[in-house]
Amino acid sequence: MVQKSALMLHICCAPDATVPVEDLTAEGWQVAGFFYGSNIQPVEEYRLRLGALHKLMDYHNGLPVEEAPYAPDVWLSHMLRLGLMEEPEGGARCTACFELQLEAAARAAIRLGCSHLCTSLTISPHKDAARITSIGERIAEENSLTWEPRIWRKKNGFLRSIRASKELGLYRQNYCGCMPSLLGRESPAARQGRL
Ligand code: SF4
Repeated sequence: MVQKSALMLHICCAPDATVPVEDLTAEGWQVAGFFYGSNIQPVEEYRLRLGALHKLMDYHNGLPVEEAPYAPDVWLSHMLRLGLMEEPEGGARCTACFELQLEAAARAAIRLGCSHLCTSLTISPHKDAARITSIGERIAEENSLTWEPRIWRKKNGFLRSIRASKELGLYRQNYCGCMPSLLGRESPAARQGRL
């Protein structure tokens, strides 16, 4: 197999990264991961998701993953400054959240000498893949990186991720991450399976 370039995979959570890591590695990419995490509340939940990430890294023989320092106050200040805390899930707060995460991943990609940038976010059927792709393309270009456009949920990607998470015994969260998404998980929309 021809070894491809170094690719920075932004990992939103371990279950969502199962398929991207498996597929990119099988394709010959040198994969490094980046986990942002400061959007996640409370800290106990952050620790659970970090534990799942470590489990996934171990399964992939120590896949290198850079973890950003946990700074929920920085994430919250940013959203408050932009006046986005009352936004519904899927709205402008999520756009700003994707931007924060992908900008941090781009900086990590540069630090680690990666040429390509990608994200696990597009495996979720609940997230706007077109918006994520457009943000990723812009941020990659601004940082002289190449965006690797993948919609991971295609070809049963989401189902595969559920199966793989079960097999590996990975913790799977039942809300996106921030406090508004935690508080909204008992909403009628959440009960209908949108979260
Ligand atoms: S719902 Fe998820 S993507 Fe949207 S702001 Fe909260 S943590 Fe970020």
